[in-house]
Amino acid sequence: MQIYLDNAATTKMSRTAIDAMLPYMDTDYGNPSSLHSVGQRANEALTAARERIARRLGCEAREITFTSGGSEADNQAIISAARIGEKSGKKHIVSTAFEHHAVLHTLDKLEKEGFEITLLDVHENGIVLPEQVANAIRLDTCLVTVMYANNEIGTVQPIKEIGKICREKNVLFHTDAVQAAGHLRIDVKEENIDMLSLSAHKFHGPKGVGALYAKKGIRLTNLIEGGAQERGKRSGTENIPAIMGMAAAFEEALDNADSNARKLSALRDKLIAGISEIPHSVLNGDAQNRLPGNVSFCFEGIEGESLLLLLDDKGVYASSGSACTSGSLDPSHVLLAIGRVHDIAHGSLRLTLSEENTEEEILYTINAVKEVVEYLRSISPIWRDLVSGKKEFII
Ligand SMILES: *Cc1c(COP(=O)(O)O)cnc(C)c1O
Repeated sequence: MQIYLDNAATTKMSRTAIDAMLPYMDTDYGNPSSLHSVGQRANEALTAARERIARRLGCEAREITFTSGGSEADNQAIISAARIGEKSGKKHIVSTAFEHHAVLHTLDKLEKEGFEITLLDVHENGIVLPEQVANAIRLDTCLVTVMYANNEIGTVQPIKEIGKICREKNVLFHTDAVQAAGHLRIDVKEENIDMLSLSAHKFHGPKGVGALYAKKGIRLTNLIEGGAQERGKRSGTENIPAIMGMAAAFEEALDNADSNARKLSALRDKLIAGISEIPHSVLNGDAQNRLPGNVSFCFEGIEGESLLLLLDDKGVYASSGSACTSGSLDPSHVLLAIGRVHDIAHGSLRLTLSEENTEEEILYTINAVKEVVEYLRSISPIWRDLVSGKKEFII
């Protein structure tokens, strides 16, 4: 069996998305800035893709800028808000401790420039309260940036309420919606969102393409110097095939969002129930308020890395946290942010589903995880100390 359960890291492209891309690599390969017909065909496709994505977000086409992905969109949103803020002496930014590194590292860079950053704590359930945001906003706050849904533990944040507070206090509000876009319905106007980042490869589109929504009137800082593409907000010849693939994948994902969510949450809950039977295990993040396809656990007395390798041997492709932090031995900042101590955070497992997963695969995975955890504990000196009472159980 080969069971792919790492859809928060990236997804397989849908057939619809691939088919939407092919003509723009073949017959309609023009540069949209060219004045001849081949170029103009590409330009018409670009205009249509922008309109289609805008419609699904509830905004205007001119409020969408295409980027190379979620990371670039996050960087551009935050840097732009900082440049707008500093013009009027506002150099304070509010965010959370469990953002993606595309946000956290951009904030680090601004901090070195003299910005003050407040990172809100997230509670054990992995949810930020709107009151925390309200209390953190100051007169010199230029931006609040809070992710829509967390990439490791899948918890969904009260975005509309946070947006409302930012509106009332006249502070720009950005959300990294890379995990939510295409999975949850988002209406930027209704949810009081000023800027939003999304990335195609998280919803069965191609890698290396994303979009930044920025409400009209917000002046975006161009991070890449060059030609005047994207109304001067993002230089470089547009990746038309990828943009077409993204538009098709986004529409397909949203057309099926309700049925996918029903299917995925049923599989998710089955997986959670099965894995919860393992003694000294704990679900990370709120059980209800989470993405339909996210399962995240910590196990006492084991190492996440060995767990992943043994699951891989059994054909189960999982992750310990985010793809970006695996490979480093530091425990995930997200798990530390929800209060897991180092020892526990090391024993983490993230399983993220797609519509293609079946019930049979879920049952196989539950057994595989049980067997592997049991085996690793049987050879673990830490586990021996826990069982003999030399060390105390935490979970
Ligand atoms: C994947 C991810 C990103 C980065 O998106 P890329 O398109 O891979 O650059 C940013 N934020 C979150 C929450 C993500 O899951």
